[in-house]
Amino acid sequence: MKNSSLIILNDREKRWNNFNKLINSSNRKSWIIIRANIPGNNKTSYLSNYLCYQGFKKIIENITIKEIYYYFGEDGLNIYFSTNEDSLSLKKKTILIEEQEIGRFIDVDVIDNGGIISRTDLNYERRKCYICDNDAIICVKKRKHSVDELIKFIEDSTTEFIFKDSKYIFKNIFELACIIELSRTFSYGCVNVIGNGSHSDMDLISFFKSIKLLGSYYIKDQFNNIKNFKDLRNLGKEIEKELFKITKGINTYKGLNFLVLFVSYAFFNNYSINDYSKIIKKLADNIYDDFNSNLNTNGYRINEKYNIKGIREIPYTGFEIVENIFCPYLKNFKNIQELNLIIMKYINDTTTINRCGIDQYYIFKNLVSEVINKKLSKEELDRYCLDKNISTGGAADIIIITIMYFLIYVYEEEGEISEINKKWNLWKFTV
Ligand SMILES: [Zn+2]
Repeated sequence: MKNSSLIILNDREKRWNNFNKLINSSNRKSWIIIRANIPGNNKTSYLSNYLCYQGFKKIIENITIKEIYYYFGEDGLNIYFSTNEDSLSLKKKTILIEEQEIGRFIDVDVIDNGGIISRTDLNYERRKCYICDNDAIICVKKRKHSVDELIKFIEDSTTEFIFKDSKYIFKNIFELACIIELSRTFSYGCVNVIGNGSHSDMDLISFFKSIKLLGSYYIKDQFNNIKNFKDLRNLGKEIEKELFKITKGINTYKGLNFLVLFVSYAFFNNYSINDYSKIIKKLADNIYDDFNSNLNTNGYRINEKYNIKGIREIPYTGFEIVENIFCPYLKNFKNIQELNLIIMKYINDTTTINRCGIDQYYIFKNLVSEVINKKLSKEELDRYCLDKNISTGGAADIIIITIMYFLIYVYEEEGEISEINKKWNLWKFTV
């Protein structure tokens, strides 16, 4: 216990030094730092990352931000925003953010030349304890609530936030699934909270921005006029265009968006998850026609050369592999790391092939089997991917889809949020 608090404190100091260097090299007027407000020694959970992501969205929606940086260590994920807005008016905005819904579980600091602006500088009351509504500092000092009680409260409230409004459920589960995927310890060349993997052109913030954009399309209103594959495709193209605009041409989630649209079609048309496969198969019936009309894609070239169908095979077969193999696995074992290996074993990832070539790809697949058979460690495979500049983005997309299937299943199975909290702890996956 002592040890891990010490590690967190050391990391906090490191983070402050890091941040001070950043401030000193910049001439921006004010800075904002956000982090999840999670008690105890585990600051690096995906719950913490999820809360931080929600704070990130609120900040960029309400404030004109100039630059965004982040730091991830034992003290958790911290995101820094620079702005030219005045610090006192910023503090007012961020207090409002802290007081909305799950904003209660996020700490937002506003900093200018004079240091940190406090609530009392603006004559606001200090923050209230979210359990008993007394002064939060007094509850902490008196240790009025146990860490377990506090964490349970944050977990249950966050689950409620995700499922309480039917209009936003699909978007919310999409976002959570993406954050879980980004929180993986080993990501086999993909960007995650820890680093950029085999990618020099994107980082966590590119992904946060992309999730926010895609999520804004995954709500019911967008699907009112979607009647067939052609409509869905047009919506997909529109989203893709916006996605490349905000990432300045870098591909973060093009493939994922393609997959999610099929699932969203089934979801928004109120089908039961047991019927998704039938509905999606019908919808995707002509999906391979693309190969005849769209000769210039990597998917086409790889299909032509090696007869590997790649991503299109998933909707064509109605996501059956997700429904019958991946999702049941996740339900039983709640282990994203193991799920990841199984997905890499079963799925042919054309984005990986395109990046490293077919020979290297088969070597990689063999190594995946060795990890499954415990002849090689996950860490070694992860390092191998970095050494060989391999990235496994296609598998990452399927992890996200599988988590979404799981969450839709849970939502359908349990009528009440209190039942979801009681039976399924959504915050206890091994990542
Ligand atoms: Zn209290």
